[in-house]
Amino acid sequence: MAEVPEIETLRRDLDREVGGKRIKTVEVPGSGVIPRHTNKKQFSGLLEGTKINSIVRRDLLLVAKLDSGDALVMDIHGGGQLRRHAAKDAVDKATKVVVTFTQGGQLRAVDESGNLELFVVPFDQLAEAVPALATLGVDVLDEPVSWTVFGERILRHRGTKLRALLLDRTVVAGVGPVYADEILHASGLRPDRDVSSLSTQEIRRFFRALVETLHEAAKHRGVTTSDGQYADLTGKPGGWTEQLQVFERDGQACLRCRGVVSKVRQANKTVYLCEACQV
Ligand SMILES: [Zn+2]
Repeated sequence: MAEVPEIETLRRDLDREVGGKRIKTVEVPGSGVIPRHTNKKQFSGLLEGTKINSIVRRDLLLVAKLDSGDALVMDIHGGGQLRRHAAKDAVDKATKVVVTFTQGGQLRAVDESGNLELFVVPFDQLAEAVPALATLGVDVLDEPVSWTVFGERILRHRGTKLRALLLDRTVVAGVGPVYADEILHASGLRPDRDVSSLSTQEIRRFFRALVETLHEAAKHRGVTTSDGQYADLTGKPGGWTEQLQVFERDGQACLRCRGVVSKVRQANKTVYLCEACQV
């Protein structure tokens, strides 16, 4: 699983590595990775000969903007990896797509999870192709938002628990189970606190924790959890992994207080928290 700090890390790397490069050929040795296309040739035909102008991110989707007006959308948040390779490098058997550039090697999509998906759409029709993007909430790594605007937005969700709020993509973009637990620990708030119970000071703290946690994690290239799914373009795991405060740290000491991190079930989900310093 990858969340917004990992996808943003890939976006920055891809923009630097393949932005401005022209696609020579596209091969699809794997199956099941382009379900929106009628066949491999139709998919390749939309890409070959085009130039990647830049890479942008929409929620957890990586979007390569092409000079044809189309976009190559890469969805790896549920699994799979993107790798830079020289054409002569051995091809891993889990390789699903190989994009060869006229200059500067290849970009390969590798996946054993079955969750990786790639597709091409006209860039201006992306929201129709992915309807959830039309109702996307605040994306703090994409544009700055003030805590007062954030506060107004979350107070529309009275009756919702904080962890569920963080996972609601119409409220906050790109947050999954890892960063939901980390943000709540950083704010000193319990995952099952109700939005309506927050004081003004707590809303500010919650907002600051959201922004700082995601920015710091992205700056340090995200995390690779025990599923081992996430890696960068060179195959390296996320550099923020060691900085996790609660996620998958049950039974270990809380780094902020003298408590012990717990793993509990809440609303049918596994949640990591410190019962001592989250109130
Ligand atoms: Zn603690």
